[in-house]
Amino acid sequence: MDTLISVDVSTAPSKLDVIHNRWHPDVPIVSWVKPGDEFRVECIDWTGGQIANDDDAKDVKIVDLTKVHYLSGPIGVHGAEPGDLLVVEILDVGVLPKSQWGFTGIFAKENGGGFLTEHYPDARKACWNFSGIYANSRHIPGVEFAGIMHPGLIGCLPSKELLDTWNKREKALFDTNPERVPALCALPHAETAHMGRMKPDAAKAAAMEGARTVPPREHGGNCDIKNLTKGSKVYFPVYVKGGGLSMGDIHFSQGDGEITFCGAIEMAGYLDLRVSIIKEGVAKYGIKNPLFQSSPLEPKYSSYLIFEGISVDEAGKQYYLDVHVAYRMACLNAIEYLEKFGFTGAQAYAILGTAPVEGRISGIVDIPNACATLAIPTEIFNFDIKPSAAGPKRGFPAGADLAVVK
Ligand code: ZN
Repeated sequence: MDTLISVDVSTAPSKLDVIHNRWHPDVPIVSWVKPGDEFRVECIDWTGGQIANDDDAKDVKIVDLTKVHYLSGPIGVHGAEPGDLLVVEILDVGVLPKSQWGFTGIFAKENGGGFLTEHYPDARKACWNFSGIYANSRHIPGVEFAGIMHPGLIGCLPSKELLDTWNKREKALFDTNPERVPALCALPHAETAHMGRMKPDAAKAAAMEGARTVPPREHGGNCDIKNLTKGSKVYFPVYVKGGGLSMGDIHFSQGDGEITFCGAIEMAGYLDLRVSIIKEGVAKYGIKNPLFQSSPLEPKYSSYLIFEGISVDEAGKQYYLDVHVAYRMACLNAIEYLEKFGFTGAQAYAILGTAPVEGRISGIVDIPNACATLAIPTEIFNFDIKPSAAGPKRGFPAGADLAVVK
């Protein structure tokens, strides 16, 4: 497999010109390929090396989120034009030999937060060791699982028109509550923008409007779909000549929802890709957002313990078919259950964010309650996690926990 883009994890991201951290139509293509080509793309971790493999969560607390995500690319595909579909086959995903570890952060409420930030407002960190396909952590004993490695973030460059649409609608949302912590959305932030190989003057202007990489949007982007693993195939709308495919935020494993926000097992890694084009595919198939075809490879967990949540919140307040509330309550129910077996709340929260946990909208019509479910594979625990007449028993020695800020 030829390496099209290589990165050195020990080089400062600002010195790497094959990466960028904003979406803008004018980010210059770093490399061109032809339909049918197969190639390797290396990626640094999403924070660009801001998090260390140690036992202090200070780096998670002060992480500069205006610098993320660092993406490798953009890659041009000869013949791709606006309105086409760019077909991207993910042939393989792997760990970089020089960076064989991963991390999970619970972000502090005042710096990013997470899905359960009202319950877990402080910065915490878990570091992960990779044993082949399995991940285990000195910060979370009692659990080990097979990863489904995938890019959290992948997509094509937007057109100017699409970029303007994003900026307009997100600013309007932000303005409804500009003081909110965490913020309602991440607006353009020129100071830490990395516009790839753009010339300084052009880059300065583009940085003012370059879209942040935080949300998923029409082009895909930060979708955090855990099943986008090797063997899957994605169909991306093309908006600019050549497509401009960029990617990063590689995860060793993730639970549906990536609930701690830095919730997957984050790592540097590589993607082996094969690309092709479906001419005028956007109109032919009525595509607005990317679609993907699943992989024949996935961990074969068969026994799940499934937690339900309904749209009634922690205080007993009734909501109308609100899946956001329902999924939160399913997560909280799961955490409370896992705590009975000796996990701390932070450990349980991190397990839900990282293990191959399946999240579903199970019911969305039975007024007034939506029903969300969260399915945890029981085989990821090295002791029995199922309910029994004997009651819950601690499955591992006490003591370890996620790193705190020292
Ligand atoms: Zn990520």
